[in-house]
Amino acid sequence: MNGDGWYPAELDGPEWVRPAEPDCPDCPCHTLRVCVGKVWHLAWPRHEGCPCEKAAVAADTPPATRQVTVTVGGVTRTVTAQAPTVGFGAGLLLTPRVFLAADDTGGPVTVAMVLTAATDRTPADQVALCEMGRRWAIRLTASHGGAQVRISGWHDA
Ligand SMILES: [Zn+2]
Ligand SMILES: [Zn+2]
Repeated sequence: MNGDGWYPAELDGPEWVRPAEPDCPDCPCHTLRVCVGKVWHLAWPRHEGCPCEKAAVAADTPPATRQVTVTVGGVTRTVTAQAPTVGFGAGLLLTPRVFLAADDTGGPVTVAMVLTAATDRTPADQVALCEMGRRWAIRLTASHGGAQVRISGWHDA
């Protein structure tokens, strides 16, 4: 027990007493240490509906879709893209199939676009913006039926 903040109440007493910890100023249920450290899952008893925990979960869970403004072929539009936060595609944006591309037979196909997070090296004319102000890299290479195709514009533009 020593070294964990515990101390004997009396030198020869039988009880070990934990020093009182400051309460969190933002909720009635936890100590400051729990809320600052975000370790609600370790706190016992478990408190349902802690406002600090709720706020943290909301902040950590961005919406699963993004409104992303994309310019392709000189036409700028805003589309609703899927924004997976876990698993396949996490960290990417996936648009609906609204783009026109050519497959290897030259025939037009409609495809989705996968956008990756833009970097400093992303050319300005290949940057898309989402409503959260994030910069995304427009990728004109898409896949269709297992083949790589090149996006040339919007399918109904
Ligand atoms: Zn709190
Ligand atoms: Zn709390």
